[in-house]
Amino acid sequence: MGGNPEYGGQGMPKLLTVAFEEMLYATNTSFALYPALNTGAALLLDHHATDAIKRTYLPRMYAGEWLGSMCLTEPHCGTDLGLIKTRAVPNVDGDTYAITGSKIWITGGEHDMVDNIVHLVLAKLPDAPEGTRGISLFLVPKRKVGADGEAGEPNSVVCGGLEHKMGIKGSATCVMHFEAAEGMLIGEPHQGLAAMFTMMNYERLSIGIQGLGLGEVAYQSAMDFARERLQSRAPNGPAAPDRPADPILVHPDVRRMALNVRAWNEGGRAFAAFVAQQLDRVKFHPEEGVRDEAQALVALLTPVAKAFLTDRGFDATVEAQQVYGGNGYCVEWGAEQYVRDARIAMIYEGTNGIQAMDLVGRKLFRNRGAYVTCLLALIRGDLETLDKQEVSDFKQAVQQEAERLGRVTDELLERADGRPEELGAAAVDYLNLTGHVVYAWLWLKMAIAAQAGLDGQGTAGERFYRSKLAVGRHFINRMLPRTEALERQIRAGAKPLMTMDDEDFMFTG
Ligand SMILES: Cc1cc2nc3c(=O)[nH]c(=O)nc-3n(C[C@H](O)[C@H](O)[C@H](O)COP(=O)(O)OP(=O)(O)OC[C@H]3O[C@@H](n4cnc5c(N)ncnc54)[C@H](O)[C@@H]3O)c2cc1C
Repeated sequence: MGGNPEYGGQGMPKLLTVAFEEMLYATNTSFALYPALNTGAALLLDHHATDAIKRTYLPRMYAGEWLGSMCLTEPHCGTDLGLIKTRAVPNVDGDTYAITGSKIWITGGEHDMVDNIVHLVLAKLPDAPEGTRGISLFLVPKRKVGADGEAGEPNSVVCGGLEHKMGIKGSATCVMHFEAAEGMLIGEPHQGLAAMFTMMNYERLSIGIQGLGLGEVAYQSAMDFARERLQSRAPNGPAAPDRPADPILVHPDVRRMALNVRAWNEGGRAFAAFVAQQLDRVKFHPEEGVRDEAQALVALLTPVAKAFLTDRGFDATVEAQQVYGGNGYCVEWGAEQYVRDARIAMIYEGTNGIQAMDLVGRKLFRNRGAYVTCLLALIRGDLETLDKQEVSDFKQAVQQEAERLGRVTDELLERADGRPEELGAAAVDYLNLTGHVVYAWLWLKMAIAAQAGLDGQGTAGERFYRSKLAVGRHFINRMLPRTEALERQIRAGAKPLMTMDDEDFMFTG
């Protein structure tokens, strides 16, 4: 949908594609991974490949006739890609390279759903500098593509086996061996990681939406169950006196779980849409200043979107599973599969801990908080201009949280000067704080729109607006207070984490 129209894509805005992606992930996460990887691979080629490669590969990939894969991870290196051993040696034809090495956990690495698989492989050239500065990127097709543009003889790419996983069992996760396989360099030598980031950044938001989609389907399924399941009576007296017991949704604790899940989902959907909108501004907006501001927000919020959406998506699937009682642990209702499928999203595409390091390192410390200042200016601008007396409780909450984020940011920048471990210690809590503050802000915007709808300025219907306000109030009153704990945890600093000797971790008692 979002592909380049010059090569057969539809050129749709990101705002639309994220809504579609959520539906794909919600209905079949394993299957959704194939088009998700393909879309990221096509985006990468559109940005970094030659016109000839684009002409040959993109129309096939957009049509879903060929699918892409990303081949980064090796047995001894996941997070630290500087350690990769896969080699690329120039062939005598002067055009292609012989790629040799083994990759593991490659999503969609091998399957027979399409005619060809387009592997994007990180490897090192013979003269490569050490570490991540020495990584190059290669396109290695499963079947070599002839001058006629058709998939022909097999390349020396072999699937060594399928990985046995906790969830996403319909997604082929493969060990891939490249045995002097023919590949083409994409982009400049030794600049492969930067090019790969085009795909990785796309996948980060996409994987965030995996969490969101699973949270949504988990909610909808749990609500079907909660309406039917009769247990005990409502605390203030029977709600369905003609039945042997009341539906479990009468119980405050079941409502708490349901509202938690729903508030994560609806806040998350607004967040994904906001990031998508910024990506559209970066791509399409005519004014440079607007594009720059949007780029800063995208840079800041991409790791938050990946980690916060998947952490909260997982929380949502577990909390929705709890609504079922024992039925949630058994396979018939499907709730346990949502939990298993959601778990991986916190790990792949860079673990959520690594996303948090990216946030506090590259996106915060390196520019002394410039991106956060940009975000806070936007929030404060809204606080000054957006108004609806009826939702002043939302406004007050956002005011308080914006101050908190500003305060915590200043303190952290000061404390981490010359002490990098302070950043690592604060990373995950800081990311969670940022996520909560952004959700609160987006809930304020939604509350204003919902109130306007109730005042007769909308078309979505009264129930929609009423429930939006109710879920939003649950969020600001019962979930947002977690930021107080996060602020204290961040302020506690690295010392409590770093005091114990490494050896002492091996002794328990
Ligand atoms: C089902 C599945 C599908 C996958 N699909 C693909 C794919 O298509 N292509 C691909 O290339 N890879 C894929 N992966 C690999 C995935 O991206 C990696 O598992 C992930 O990046 C983490 O690497 P690792 O597992 O080696 O963990 P490690 O890097 O060994 O990390 C172990 C732990 O240490 C932490 N850690 C490591 N370094 C640091 C640090 N500097 N600071 C703080 N904490 C740190 C990590 O957060 C983690 O908690 C897939 C993995 C799975 C399980």
